[in-house]
Amino acid sequence: CAVFGVYAKGEDVARMACFGLQALQHRGQESAGIAVGDGETITVAKDLGLVTQVFDESTLAALDGFVAVGHARYSTSGGAASWEAAQPHISAIDDVLIALAHNGTLVNTNAIRTSLISEGVQFRSHTDSEVAAKAIGYVTQQTHHLRNGIRHAMETLEGAYAMVLASPDSLYAFRDPNGIRPLCVGRLPDDRGWVVSSETCGLDIVGAEYVRDVEPGEIVCFNDEGMHSEQGVAPRRRAACIFEYVYFARPDSVLDGMSVYQARRNMGRVIARESPVEADLVLGVPDSGVPSAMGYAAESGIPYADGIVKNRYVGRTFIQPTQAMRQLGIRLKLNPLPSVIAGKRLVVIDDSIVRGNTSKKLVDMLREAGAAEVHLRIVSPEVLWPCFYGIDTDSRDQLIAANMTNAEMCEFIGADSLAFITLEGLRDSIRANHEGFCEACFTGEYPVDIPESISKNSFL
Ligand code: 5GP
Ligand code: SF4
Ligand code: MG
Repeated sequence: CAVFGVYAKGEDVARMACFGLQALQHRGQESAGIAVGDGETITVAKDLGLVTQVFDESTLAALDGFVAVGHARYSTSGGAASWEAAQPHISAIDDVLIALAHNGTLVNTNAIRTSLISEGVQFRSHTDSEVAAKAIGYVTQQTHHLRNGIRHAMETLEGAYAMVLASPDSLYAFRDPNGIRPLCVGRLPDDRGWVVSSETCGLDIVGAEYVRDVEPGEIVCFNDEGMHSEQGVAPRRRAACIFEYVYFARPDSVLDGMSVYQARRNMGRVIARESPVEADLVLGVPDSGVPSAMGYAAESGIPYADGIVKNRYVGRTFIQPTQAMRQLGIRLKLNPLPSVIAGKRLVVIDDSIVRGNTSKKLVDMLREAGAAEVHLRIVSPEVLWPCFYGIDTDSRDQLIAANMTNAEMCEFIGADSLAFITLEGLRDSIRANHEGFCEACFTGEYPVDIPESISKNSFL
């Protein structure tokens, strides 16, 4: 998911949030929403669809105020797309009114939900994020202090969360103690205000200057007195999602000081050294495979070619809830250029293989278009374990690498050869210091324990 927040008096904060969410649209395409506080109350608009489908001039005009939080959703828990699951979630308990937007997945909300229901709190959805919103609202109402509500939530919620929260007159941003999902702070020029965004590309679009990332376990608050920070919960082992660099984040974002584009180029260089092959052309699978393909070409001396054209009006195929939609999606989205590839031996670079649908279809299409050989190079290691922290990689039985040897995968996909980057190689591509990543989908070493109730179906 994408989260975005703005605190800026005298600015059109709803419009800024709308721009920010558009820049972050790649992180989720099922629903979009913005909540705005004007000092007295909070108004929210949200719906299923892309940011530009949900917001037009009249919707934005109705969102008047100086603090805004926004969200674009990619469902990982709480089931398929539904209006009730759209965020920001509003919690209104007595006179305590807040709006919350969450990126990540919480792993222990069932018991919290049950106990809140027994206290009379009502729910509209089955999402983990709504539990967080209501838990914060409830404790705030009990203790008359919003910081207490947030701190209490951070002490009790387990899992991944990068959250932005609006009260009628302040903006808060906070991040789980492992810092799994990204969140950064920016500042508008001339003291006009503050911005919080999942990625730095969201700061760029509204003209905000990057200040710093929100630290693991930290709460940052923005109000009339400026920006304040406190530690909400003690930080734990740093575990920033390594997959953000591989696939999820936009190439023009900088995460923890490392350009995503540069990291992807490096991955291509590294895999060119690790798994070289004789070929005529290097192709990248758009969009995330392209910088790596350029890196591979630079390292190997094999020319890069635009041999696969992407329909830019089709969204991210993986982020579609059903298998049938995903399969149709791939065909709609990618089309090879026969004039470029006919008769050629190709090295094709993609970011990841999860279920194997994309690669199989792609190799078929490239052969139909006349490719002489197709050598697939993947710039992430084999995905062997499901993600429980906000990226929807299903149960083990759906992960092709967990069920086949590499030779079997290569045959299933129909490639002439198949190789994955090593975990060492991936880490090297991002930074010299290898510490501080979550790599659980490759290693099975989860930074936050997964309760059995969640994992029992997925580990099969
Ligand atoms: P699959 O192997 O499941 O058919 O598809 C993998 C492709 O889906 C990759 O090329 C990647 O670009 C794309 N993709 C979209 N969303 C995600 C995601 O959340 N995680 C991963 N690993 N890949 C994704
Ligand atoms: Fe990222 Fe993988 Fe960890 Fe999920 S399990 S947070 S995708 S590194
Ligand atoms: Mg892809």
